Amino acid sequence: MAPEGIRLLGRQRDGWRRPSRYSAFGLVRHGLGRAEWPRAWQEHDLSSGYDVVIVGGGVHGLATAYYLAANHGITNVAVIDKGYIGGGGSGRNTAIIRSNYLTPEGVRFYDRSVKLYESLSADLNFNVMFSQRGHLTLAHNDGSLRTMRWRAEVNKLEGIDSEVIGPEDIKRLVPFMDVSTDTRYPILGALYHPPGGIIRHDAVVWGYARGADARGVHIHQNTELVGIETVGDRVVGALTNRGRIATPVIVNCTAGWATLVADMVGVRLPIVTHPLQAAVTEPVKPFLGPVVVSGTLHVYVSQTDRGELVFGASTDPYPSYSMRGSLDFTEELAGHVLELMPSIAQLRVLRQWAGLCDITPDFSPVMGVTPVGGFFVDVGWGTYGFKAGPVAGEAMAELLATGTTPENIAGFDLARFAEGRLVGEKGAAAVGH
Ligand SMILES: Cc1cc2nc3c(=O)[nH]c(=O)nc-3n(C[C@H](O)[C@H](O)[C@H](O)COP(=O)(O)OP(=O)(O)OC[C@H]3O[C@@H](n4cnc5c(N)ncnc54)[C@H](O)[C@@H]3O)c2cc1C
Repeated sequence: MAPEGIRLLGRQRDGWRRPSRYSAFGLVRHGLGRAEWPRAWQEHDLSSGYDVVIVGGGVHGLATAYYLAANHGITNVAVIDKGYIGGGGSGRNTAIIRSNYLTPEGVRFYDRSVKLYESLSADLNFNVMFSQRGHLTLAHNDGSLRTMRWRAEVNKLEGIDSEVIGPEDIKRLVPFMDVSTDTRYPILGALYHPPGGIIRHDAVVWGYARGADARGVHIHQNTELVGIETVGDRVVGALTNRGRIATPVIVNCTAGWATLVADMVGVRLPIVTHPLQAAVTEPVKPFLGPVVVSGTLHVYVSQTDRGELVFGASTDPYPSYSMRGSLDFTEELAGHVLELMPSIAQLRVLRQWAGLCDITPDFSPVMGVTPVGGFFVDVGWGTYGFKAGPVAGEAMAELLATGTTPENIAGFDLARFAEGRLVGEKGAAAVGH
């Protein structure tokens, strides 16, 4: 990735003039010298008014701000976060990117995001280290094999590279995997999705922040939304711990905290917040190509560019706002991982952590308008929302700029829960993320 990153740094794709320190030569000179690195985004005083206030400085809030400025020229925009940008799920996730979903709506939507991620380093002039190393979802019983076939067919109809493969092909892709038939959960096959992979999550957050800031967006960290002012059924102001902002538009991009913000205007969301944990090992030489997921064993694993193995599982079974790891999780995770790859038994776990996931009944997001004028939502991202950051930002920006809901998010509206139009993605979005 490094040579590509350096090459991209010199490129002028959008007419925005970059300071000479961003050229390849400038980078080397800067790296060898003692000068301080420039700040990637500025600090500003809180203005008394903005055209749009985006609450939540994760990938969704920042991408929405970036595309508002880059695609629509709307720059009098504030992104406020009660902590630091990327401090929510966006800096805690395991960064799996894929589009092999179950419903045609889901597949088309996530595929647009994969396409945006493919050109994101060039578009942002910032290396986001997208590594399309393939994604394998294992089937250990007839039921899951049937779901894999179903997904493969829907994927192919939508033009997505995705197929069911057998144990021999799995062994070829992941030689360390135990595909023998005498295990507790023998592997019958897998859904193989070559364009899937992993990305550097904080680079995505920082890249969008830098791009939005360069176009005039104000990013306010340590700025908490504590109330929303309305007149009639319209938003007129955002109340924060740093003062009032006059604004006709507030966008809720707060993921795990989404219902708390929606409560401020009396909008009820069908969302329950659960913690999700993950863990990482010490680094070892590269040996694992694709991302491997097992829904039956409730576990997935990938190897980062640094060589660490990143593990995740399903959400903790109870609703909570706690972001602490638990011993239960580590024990269960280790047991399941070793059933798949017994040879890594000596690897040491270095860290574990948790983030908050806003889960909807159909495992699809809630996006668009609400009954309160000027109050928009981009929430319900559960365990799978990082991959959707670019497409969600692009679509929300279009909605805010034009007043018309883009076709690719029309099915994710809030009204679907009352009207019984669910977009059921549980078969593709639970442990698989
Ligand atoms: C362990 C783990 C693994 C995951 N793995 C994957 C994966 O592999 N692939 C994938 O696609 N997704 C994954 N996810 C899900 C993904 O992380 C989230 O869906 C996504 O990051 C949500 O992004 P966001 O921008 O909507 O919210 P967040 O990144 O959570 O940002 C919300 C922000 O809102 C701020 N906020 C909250 N309340 C307020 C307030 N009142 N005022 C101001 N600011 C406020 C918070 O401080 C926070 O920074 C995972 C999640 C976890 C926890």
